[in-house]
Amino acid sequence: MTTIQARVKRKQMRRDMQPQAHIHDSYRPRGRNAGASRCPDCGAIYDGGRWTWRVSAEQMHQLQCPACKRIHEQAPAGEITFDGDYLLDRKDEVLALLHHQADGESKEHPLERIMDIQQNPEHIVVQTTGPHLVRRLGAAMLHAHQGTLEISYRDNEGLLRAHWARSSVK
Ligand SMILES: [Zn+2]
Repeated sequence: MTTIQARVKRKQMRRDMQPQAHIHDSYRPRGRNAGASRCPDCGAIYDGGRWTWRVSAEQMHQLQCPACKRIHEQAPAGEITFDGDYLLDRKDEVLALLHHQADGESKEHPLERIMDIQQNPEHIVVQTTGPHLVRRLGAAMLHAHQGTLEISYRDNEGLLRAHWARSSVK
């Protein structure tokens, strides 16, 4: 079942029958506050129903943004793995590309950030606070370094997983 289908189905259920909030939903504030809220961890502003980096309101509450909440709880929204001996001589180049793409994405979308990067010689794992960044990183690698990309959505964990691979042999 897709996320949207799950949401629609949940809406149709009676309130007292609703299951525990899906992991997705706990990272989205319910309702809209009067005035704006500011995440104490990163400074992102929640105003008018969306997260931005811009301050536009006089009245300011404190509200941890979903990205910082995910970082705090170590609950990534996405994970992309890069594999292959192709990476051996290009680790720095690839990491620079990933960081550059992540910076571009975060500037536009405060909730899309790199949470963690783990690496060994032929392997890089990037965890993100948002699913869009996974897709962007995968697309950027395909564009710059070819290889293959698989994206799979695993609903039970609410985690978008992607796998990029390229071997230098052949
Ligand atoms: Zn934050």
